[in-house]
This record gives sequence, C-alpha cells and structure tokens, in this order.
Amino acid sequence: MPVFVFHHGSDSARRIAERSAAIDCAAILTGQNPEHISNLKVAWRASPCLKEKNTPVILVAVGSVVAEGCVRTVTAITLRTVIQNVILDWSGTLVDDLSAVWHATNQVLRRAGRPPMSLETFRSEFCLPFARFYDRHVPGVPLRQLEAWFHEAFAEVQHPVEALPHARGFLEFCQRHGLRTFVLSTVKREYFERQSVQTGLAPLLGPAYLEAWDKREWIGRLLSEQDLNPPETIFVGDMQHDVETAQHGGIGSCAVLTGYNTLDQLRMAGPDLIVEHLGELQYWLESEHWSWPPAVEKSKNQSPVVTVGALILNDRNEVLLVRTAKWSHRWGIPGGKVRTGEPSEAALRRELHEETGLEVTDVQLVEVRDWINPPEFYRPVHFVLFTYLCRVRGAPDVRINHESCAWRWVPLADALSVELNEPTRRLVERVLGSASARLPTAPAES
Ligand SMILES: [Mg+2]
Repeated sequence: MPVFVFHHGSDSARRIAERSAAIDCAAILTGQNPEHISNLKVAWRASPCLKEKNTPVILVAVGSVVAEGCVRTVTAITLRTVIQNVILDWSGTLVDDLSAVWHATNQVLRRAGRPPMSLETFRSEFCLPFARFYDRHVPGVPLRQLEAWFHEAFAEVQHPVEALPHARGFLEFCQRHGLRTFVLSTVKREYFERQSVQTGLAPLLGPAYLEAWDKREWIGRLLSEQDLNPPETIFVGDMQHDVETAQHGGIGSCAVLTGYNTLDQLRMAGPDLIVEHLGELQYWLESEHWSWPPAVEKSKNQSPVVTVGALILNDRNEVLLVRTAKWSHRWGIPGGKVRTGEPSEAALRRELHEETGLEVTDVQLVEVRDWINPPEFYRPVHFVLFTYLCRVRGAPDVRINHESCAWRWVPLADALSVELNEPTRRLVERVLGSASARLPTAPAES
C-alpha cells in the first residue's frame, strides 16, 4: 500500500517526509499552504500513483492537516503521529555519574552525623526532587547547607563521569534523522558543561535546561519555549521523577535501566516504555517507524528467543553470579542470545567471555527450558533457555562488561540463600539436587 506524506514546507513536515521517504513512502505530495486544501487536491491528482481510481493509500500528515477534499478518491486514510522531539535526562541516561553522586552523598550523610549508605540502599532510597530524599534522611539540616556539603564533596570525588554505552550512538541517530534533542536535568550547570565536553557529547546536544530541581515545574516551559507538540515529544530518563515529569507535560515517557532507579521503581511510575539502554530505544523508534508508544508486545520480532547461560564453578566450588538491571537487580548467571548460524555451545563460550572475560572448560548441558514472560525481566519475552554447568581453572580474572553492575563468587551450597532470578534459582536447585556425579571435577588440592 503506498504511503503519502503531505509535505507543507514546515520543518517538522519536512523531517517526517524525509524519514518516511527512507522507509516505505511511494510519493511525497507537496503544497505551499496546508490550509488550502485545493493545493493538496492539485498535488493529489497529479500523483502518477493515483491515476487508478480507488487506490488504497495511507496519508501521513502532520498534526491536524487532514485532506478532507481528497477522501473521495481514496479508500483508507490513517493519520499517524510520529516522534519529532526527544528530551533527555542527563545523569543515568546519557552519562554514568552514579558512583560519584553516591560517594558525595555519603560525605553529606557523614557530615550530618548519619551512617553512609551501601550503593544498593542509595539506589533504592534516592529520589527527586532531592529535597524529599534529604528530608527523610537528614531532617532539620537546611537544604542550602546540604548542597554546599554535597558540591564540596563532589568536587573532591575523582570518580570519572563517562558517557553511557549507546548514548553517543543514540544522539547521532537523532541528528541523522532530524529529531530535535533537549536536555532536562537537575545537574549543576558547571558540572554539565565540564562533563558534556569530557564525554565528547557536547556537539551532539540540543538546548539544555539545567538545575531543574523539580522537572515537573520546568516541562511546560520547555515545551512552550521550544514550540514542541506534546504528541510528537518524549522524555527519556532513569528515575520515577522523569516518568512523572513526562506524564505531567502530557508527553510520551521512556524509562532507561542505565541509571539510579530499579526496574520495580520504574514500573511503579508507569512509563510508556522501559528499555535496557538508549540503543534499544533507537531500535524501537526505527522499527516502529517513529510511532509512539511502540507496540513492543505485538512486535513481529517477538518470536521466542534462544538463549544460553551457565553456572561457572571455580576450583573452590564457588559459582559466579552477576547482577543486572534488566533482571530487577537480582543475581543470576551470565549468558545471552544465540546468533543465527551459531551452535549453542559456541554462543555460550562467546557470551561468557564477553560478559565475564572468562574462558571456561568442562561444559555440560543441564537442561533446556521455556521461560515465558518472566516477571523479573524488564519486558515480556519468551526465552528458550539452554543452561549449562562449566568450570574455570586457576585464579580467574573476572572482568564484567556494561551489562552487569556487580559480580561475586558464592559457595555453590550457599547460592540458594542469595536473591537469585528464577531461571538461576531453578538451575542451582537442579545442580544441587542432581548428585555430585554431575559436577565437573574440581582439581585435587595441591
Ligand atoms: Mg537521571
């Protein structure tokens, strides 16, 4: 079915026309003035694709530009709204500053006579606007004083702030496709200026709205100052407050798992979409032709996903567990998707190497099992999971990649006391229950 884009000369219409032309557009109708239906009629009649009467078409127009005068000649008209503008949070969405902010916050707590927080507690407690966080943990200390302590500590903390994986690629993608980008963040202007240069993201960023303590109070101003149409705009962020800000502004919301809030926290805020990282948002925008929200559950790509994972044992019969945001920050086994044409054991060795840096031996298949829409996973997927048991010899040098936020060795016998994801719990139970005969042998003590 041909798709027609009515291109009336405005910037947003031009961008739609260009993008649609790249995907599935048979012709672009142009007119000087969208209010004058007669212009569109002329263009319509002139289109060679419409010489045949009753050609079914989809008309993609911008906003309220509806070609009423043309409906007699067509059998179907669908108006689609597509995303034109992306507002991005900074910390936890484009850059990773969690470690620096956590350390600086602990300095504030110490100065206020409070015990420091573990990273896990900090993630579950920290919220925006941050006055709420401080009210709960250091009541009675003026916000101005807390801020002074925080910035003093932040300046001393030498934790590098880095661009998150996929951040640069996503901004380049936006630039390539004419999507306008904006930053809306609580970050202090001087940190933003330094960090955006250090990370190399500065040339890719659009206008930035900074030091926005309560983003809900800023979103309306941003939309009106930049003349953004809410149905064509999304806000991407890593915290509940970002989702609430999008909802407050009447725009689309996308939560990313690269930052401060956990999957459970983000789900509670009810975003339109949760993605593992910006690369996945790019995928959905492209594959769903910039419509919002993307029909993730109905996607044709949602056939079962073949995956592999392994319980890795070291010489002391400890198992390696990794913690990932996409599995609700529960502990689990490393692994991933099998590629087309790749034997599953080869996929396992590749995934384990990518995610842990380890080369494994004594690989044994334990079981193959379906996991259909596991609730701990961040989106509905039907996994067909091959689980294995294997060994790593000597003193293994574990180097996790960006997919995990932590790792640890745990004695196999104690693994069930750890907060495991369900597939890993099932595997440990199988291995513990199926007699030591199944375990690959540990080397004799020397
Ligand atoms: Mg953030």
